[in-house]
Amino acid sequence: MKYKQLLASLLIGGAILTAGVNVHASSIDDQIKQNQTQLTQVKQQEQSLTAQLQAVMNKITENKTKEENFSKALLKEKLDYQALKDRISALTKRYEKKKQSIEAISNPTTYLAETNKIIDLKDQINNLKAILPKYEPQIASFEVSVAYYQQQRLASENQRNQLATQLQQVSQQDASLQSTLQKLDQQKAEAEKQQAKQAQTQATGFASPLATNLVVSSGFGQREDPNGVSGTQHDGIDLVGQLDQSVFAARDGKVVMTGTDKSAGNYIIIQHDNGFYSYYLHLNHILVKTNDSVLVGQEIGKMGTTGNSTGVHLHFGLAHTANWKEFVDPAPYLKIS
Ligand SMILES: [Zn+2]
Repeated sequence: MKYKQLLASLLIGGAILTAGVNVHASSIDDQIKQNQTQLTQVKQQEQSLTAQLQAVMNKITENKTKEENFSKALLKEKLDYQALKDRISALTKRYEKKKQSIEAISNPTTYLAETNKIIDLKDQINNLKAILPKYEPQIASFEVSVAYYQQQRLASENQRNQLATQLQQVSQQDASLQSTLQKLDQQKAEAEKQQAKQAQTQATGFASPLATNLVVSSGFGQREDPNGVSGTQHDGIDLVGQLDQSVFAARDGKVVMTGTDKSAGNYIIIQHDNGFYSYYLHLNHILVKTNDSVLVGQEIGKMGTTGNSTGVHLHFGLAHTANWKEFVDPAPYLKIS
């Protein structure tokens, strides 16, 4: 039986489902596809069984009607048969009575008339008796037909009950698969949420803050200021450019600080979703405010040479805080080797 195979594969699907906690969305997709295929098969099975059930029920109705018609015909035939026998019996009684009473008649005219009547009665009885045997095979034939259609109806009813049971089982599978699918959809949504979070926290990619080719004039960790005004360690990279050249946000984020500093000049600090803060220093103009949300590639300022700077450039820094601490070399994140 096909539905038993389906039931078996459904149970396998269920086992995968219970095992599938904290799995990748794409593996859930496979399960969803598998369940959907099963559901399609179950639905087809349901349709086919429903059609079969309808056909069998039509047959039952048809056989019932035939059985009833033959039963009616049988009953009528039996009644007619009985009526004929009753009529013969009544006529026979009259015949016997007349035959007895004729002995007492003395008038010859009356005797002759009564004798004729007796002969007529005998003829009538004989005629009716001749019809009698025709009923028996007819009744027998109707009885066979009634029995046949009754048997057919019972067989169909049996088939109907079996189909109904199958249909019930398949419908249960349908419901079960649908609920499994619903659970899988929920799992998938959950897994996708997790993956998106992971992707966000794991990715450390930054876009270039400039539209021009990145040329580094001073790298991370190099002694930038021999006079010691800006410290001895260079906590970012200096990028070559033109005065008032557009400076862009290197990644989506939120402006957490802007200001002017003796050393940094006009600066912007942006907080990102990946645990980093990007720093843009020595700007000629600041085009954003604290708490602004910015998108990667959005213009946030113009390049300049404000603060402790000897020429137009962008000092670009990456740190894990907004407190001018925990700087990392931004070069790898900008794909500068
Ligand atoms: Zn610098």
